Amino acid sequence: TIRNGVIYVSAKIINGKDFANKKLSMLKNFRAELIKKPCLAIITVGNNPASEIYVRNKQKCCEQLNIDCIVVKKNYDCDIECNAIEDDLKETIYSLNQDDKVTAIMIQLPLPTYINEDRILDCISPLKDVDGLTDVNMGKLAKFESGGIRPCTPKGIIDLLQCDDIDLTGKEVVIVGRSNIVGKPLAMMFLAEDCTVTVCHSYTTNLAQHTRNADILVVAVGKPKFITKDMVKPGAVVVDVGINRVDDKIVGDVSPDVAEVAGYMTPVPGGVGPVTVAYLIENVLDIEFNKENDL
Ligand code: NAP
Repeated sequence: TIRNGVIYVSAKIINGKDFANKKLSMLKNFRAELIKKPCLAIITVGNNPASEIYVRNKQKCCEQLNIDCIVVKKNYDCDIECNAIEDDLKETIYSLNQDDKVTAIMIQLPLPTYINEDRILDCISPLKDVDGLTDVNMGKLAKFESGGIRPCTPKGIIDLLQCDDIDLTGKEVVIVGRSNIVGKPLAMMFLAEDCTVTVCHSYTTNLAQHTRNADILVVAVGKPKFITKDMVKPGAVVVDVGINRVDDKIVGDVSPDVAEVAGYMTPVPGGVGPVTVAYLIENVLDIEFNKENDL
């Protein structure tokens, strides 16, 4: 488009939904090779409306792939002590660990703040840890060891970019956000792809100076329009992980006008979100396959 005599080149939109659908149809073939019907157990705590939508999407996707999905809903009384709550959650996890019918276990995050997330997550058996968040799986990732289970969102992002023929080797990657579920594991995965990685967070000074340097910019902050077009290098690949609800609409962390400077951009909705669910399914099937083949 031309405005006031200036030519604006729009970014190529990376269609995460199409990519996820293709991935799911390949996974259907993989599913057909399995002897037993896999089963994903999802534990939820409290009534988080956003979490309820995510869980429903996962259930629907499991249904499509003929995977059992059980949701264990926990609602605790405010009067119960935190220790008792953690003990109850741990007991639930231990019994799912032991249950031979259960292939994979995930805890829908975020947990209420009074629960120590890390302590609870690490009770999941590393062999059933479908989100790859236990110390064992995170450790394997940090050491670039094969065989561990990788977190779904970062794994999906790397494949999504590679599928669009975006070469990663030697690229300057800037990730905004350092959560255990997105920023940190993604940094490790880009490092493993021979990128040079910078991770920014809420204490980063001169954020724009870093983001403007990025060939690939990934944003996982949870604030609408957090990244504006003046913070992006012309031609950069911009991956928007954010999911924010604004006036009943879902928006990302990246302002839409970034498309005027970026070379590639993932949309919200229809970008990283559906890819994450497809990669969750892949992890469930991988775990069942490894179990059936003693790998
Ligand atoms: P999180 O745990 O809430 O962490 C947010 C990160 O953003 C933190 O590292 C925080 O820094 C950083 N941050 C906050 N304010 C900042 C600022 N002013 N400047 C720089 N960094 C700042 O995030 P998350 O769980 O990774 O989720 C992030 C977003 O992605 C959310 O919208 C979430 O809903 C979405 N999400 C989407 C998917 C998907 O499938 N599409 C998957 C997971 C998450 P500190 O560490 O210093 O606090």
